[in-house]
Amino acid sequence: MSNGSFPPEPGRRGGTLAIVLAALLPACFAGWLLWSSLGDSKDDGADGVGAPTTSSTSSPSPPSSGAPAAPSPPTPSGNVSGKPLAGKVVVIDPGHNPNNRDHPSQIARLVDIGTDEKECDTTGTATNSGYAEASFTLDVARRARTLLEARGATVRFTQDGDRPYGPCVDERAEIGNKAHADAVVSVHADGAAAGERGFHVILPKSVRGGGADTSAITAPSRRLGERLRSRFAKATGSEPAQYIADGSGLDVRGDLGGLNLSTVPKVFIECGNMRDSQDAAQLTDKTWRERAADGVAQGITDFLNE
Ligand code: ZN
Repeated sequence: MSNGSFPPEPGRRGGTLAIVLAALLPACFAGWLLWSSLGDSKDDGADGVGAPTTSSTSSPSPPSSGAPAAPSPPTPSGNVSGKPLAGKVVVIDPGHNPNNRDHPSQIARLVDIGTDEKECDTTGTATNSGYAEASFTLDVARRARTLLEARGATVRFTQDGDRPYGPCVDERAEIGNKAHADAVVSVHADGAAAGERGFHVILPKSVRGGGADTSAITAPSRRLGERLRSRFAKATGSEPAQYIADGSGLDVRGDLGGLNLSTVPKVFIECGNMRDSQDAAQLTDKTWRERAADGVAQGITDFLNE
């Protein structure tokens, strides 16, 4: 964060100059009238009020103070005015896939997660009324993408409802790695016992084996997870789940291929418990999902602006 001091305010230069200027002003004004009548209307720097810039000079310029060729204001460079994530790459991984249920044998195929082998993907859970986790994850991911792109981020998805199934967990990790993502968030909702409520974030454990080596990403992933926990709680009003990770909201796992195989900062977020009726009422509410997406986007933004 920038906490540089502002440049000192220029001091007032006293009255003498003002008097001289006042004396000169009528002459200048007369000079301007003459100049203006000669038809020059160019180079008026117009820091205009929402007016589109055109290459034409056809519009008449209002008189500027008569001072010769005032320097144009410095053009701000860099990430200003609401684009704090310009140049950043975010990968969002919507957990599961609504079509996985139609491809049981393909998603059951075992893939190498470095430390073990695991199913390519799973169907995910659902609410009692049949709202699928995979539909939830895609919806929240898309909402978060809109928010992140508005801040200037380049956002990529591991799937956007555009694949027959999957991708497999190893490919999900690879997509983030190949994108050289600055942050990856895998969006999920849990399927715990009824009566259990709340959200939690899953951080990569430090693991090494086969193609897995998370030693370099555990620390930044934890920071990402902490920002997410804080922002998600604030945006949704939800509490960290009490049924896991001692209620801290931060679980650490070494059995998830999507984390084990990541070489870039990555976490999962379980946004709530689909099997609990109160949590399900939130998860199925699009207004709540917008808040959830806002929490995800803000957590990522905080992490990337550190
Ligand atoms: Zn899931």
